[in-house]
Amino acid sequence: MDLLTIGAFAKASGLSPKALRLYDELGLLRPARVDPFTGYRYYAVAQLDRARLVAWLRRLGMPLARIRAVSVLTGADAAREVRAYWARVEAETAVRRDLAAFLVTELTEAPGKGPTMLELRCAAHSDRGHVRPANQDTVYAGRRLLAVADGFGPAGAPASGAAVEALRFLDEEDGPRPGDVLNLLADAVRGAGDAVRDVTEGAGDAGTTLTALLWTGSRLALAHIGDSRAYLLREGGLFRITHDHSVVQSLLDEGRLTPAEAESHPQRSLLLKALGADPDLRLHEALPGDRYLLCSDGLTGVVPDDRIRELLAAAPDPETAVRTLVDAANTAGGPDNVSCVVGDVVPPVG
Ligand code: MG
Repeated sequence: MDLLTIGAFAKASGLSPKALRLYDELGLLRPARVDPFTGYRYYAVAQLDRARLVAWLRRLGMPLARIRAVSVLTGADAAREVRAYWARVEAETAVRRDLAAFLVTELTEAPGKGPTMLELRCAAHSDRGHVRPANQDTVYAGRRLLAVADGFGPAGAPASGAAVEALRFLDEEDGPRPGDVLNLLADAVRGAGDAVRDVTEGAGDAGTTLTALLWTGSRLALAHIGDSRAYLLREGGLFRITHDHSVVQSLLDEGRLTPAEAESHPQRSLLLKALGADPDLRLHEALPGDRYLLCSDGLTGVVPDDRIRELLAAAPDPETAVRTLVDAANTAGGPDNVSCVVGDVVPPVG
């Protein structure tokens, strides 16, 4: 066996001797031989491929624990893991990008009350569906606040109710001041998480999702956690503006499931996080004519996006839209509680 000193191996692999010693300690890349007297490490030429793969994965920013799992794989198996890792990084980056944009707006916004250029007209509707014994969803549509919460577990209904109740103060007459929306929303969601903890204490695995939009007069601030969704209908196109925090969505992101497989996955409703963990926060510039939809998975589980787009586009007003969408879910079997809130961005009256 051809053995290289640690210095020669470091040079050939692009890893520093210091890194090689660390990877030895972590069991990531063991030397082929360690001199029992001097402690010098020697590496086999045949280990170069693995060492170079480790070096590339480090350069990608992959954590060491994950590198350990990937570096024992070869070819297509390793490629699949690299693709999955990168998909995860991109999903996380998208969430941070939205937050950064929100923060930039907040920091550049002049303090004081900004002009209210547009108004929000909205309606909400929630239904038990045809199968579930009770409705554990809670919806809210006020002048400034739209919210959907989908409770789960033995105290699911009190959980979703408490979450929405804790946000209702956001719907007050004056609304949030520009430059203050991010803190206000984050505090409100944290308060909602506390309220849910109070009502679910001792109730086993219970909690709720929360997807809420707060109207600022020209923008919509979004807080989202779980697998309820927000969509925007703009100029006839439907855009989903939330990312599900569900096991199935993460498998989809990582390319481990196809969309068709995801549709019939037995663990479709398994959440990665629920209210109490950090929400996704983003700010949306509203345009006149925008129609926003918040809904629980009782809609999206049985009504495809194309159909949602058709129904949403055809409804003359938010009241009709929420009724039609809930009817569509029930016509498709109504296997879950179904809730919809629709908000139209309109020029002010008068
Ligand atoms: Mg549900």
